[in-house]
Amino acid sequence: SRTLAFLGLGAMGWPMAAQLARHTKETGGRTLVWNRTQAKADAHAREFGSEAAALPEVAAADVIFSCLPTSAEVDEVLTALGGQLRAGAVWVDCTSGQPEAARRQAAGLAGRGVAFLDAPVSGGPGGAAAGKLTVMVGGDTAVLERVRADLAFAAKVVHVGDVGAGFAVKAINNTLMAVNMWAAGEGLAALARTGVDLHAALDVINASSGRSYPTEALIPQRVLTREFPVTFQLGLLAKDAGIAAEVVQDARASAPVLTQVAALYRAAAHSIGAEADYSAALKLVEQMNGTEIK
Ligand code: NDP
Repeated sequence: SRTLAFLGLGAMGWPMAAQLARHTKETGGRTLVWNRTQAKADAHAREFGSEAAALPEVAAADVIFSCLPTSAEVDEVLTALGGQLRAGAVWVDCTSGQPEAARRQAAGLAGRGVAFLDAPVSGGPGGAAAGKLTVMVGGDTAVLERVRADLAFAAKVVHVGDVGAGFAVKAINNTLMAVNMWAAGEGLAALARTGVDLHAALDVINASSGRSYPTEALIPQRVLTREFPVTFQLGLLAKDAGIAAEVVQDARASAPVLTQVAALYRAAAHSIGAEADYSAALKLVEQMNGTEIK
């Protein structure tokens, strides 16, 4: 029977691993979970029937998933696992990582007979809990077919290219969202200063061509309400925009808006706080305009 392992039970990893546990319960396999703070893995096992494991124990799995903050933490766990991984295993990294790190990690794992896919996700903790994530996969298509049935947290899985391509697409996706949110924040702050009611402004924008995910969902739900609930840390979005800037640089592309927005989110993470929700980036736009978006 098949053994899956999941490393990193954070905002995303916790519900993703719950989907794996549900899947292996149905198919007669096992789901091992490891987390740096072990109490979370024990709690996951109690709640979902996964099995809390020590790091060396996950090396026995057929498929190892990781979802850690950045590629640097993935490097740490790869180093800690050392040569213990089994030839024939597949490592599926669901971190929003760096393409260059993926290529380096894949080459290192290939030497031990372990295949690597970069498989970052979109849809947030709610999408993960519903098993409705979108997955963008870089790597060998034959390897993807070996694990496709294990991606129990996904509603849509798209192969986008060689190793690293998944991370590149994810970074650009999140940066497009970041551009839309920042631009909407600037526009709404300007309207607030002119005395326009922002609920009315969003109502009409969302029935017009300026609408976006931030105008339709994020800003009404998180900014106007002043709730800014933390589901995705601002520091992680700043990291994603930084990766997009690296993608632009490596491709010798010309993308002044994307690289500018990376600098703006870095500034927001420094001034508002990296652990705030990503929607709190608009607090910096508010400060820049001496007004509130409410
Ligand atoms: P969280 O901060 O909620 O979770 C981070 C996880 O990484 C925790 O399990 C934490 O363990 C672990 N961790 C942190 N540092 C280390 C380390 N040095 N060694 C081992 N484990 C470590 O992050 P998210 O779940 O929100 O994000 C994870 C990834 O998914 C990021 O790349 C993010 O960009 C991406 N992502 C996030 C989305 C979201 O909506 N939140 C959506 C899509 C992608 P511990 O419990 O011990 O702190």
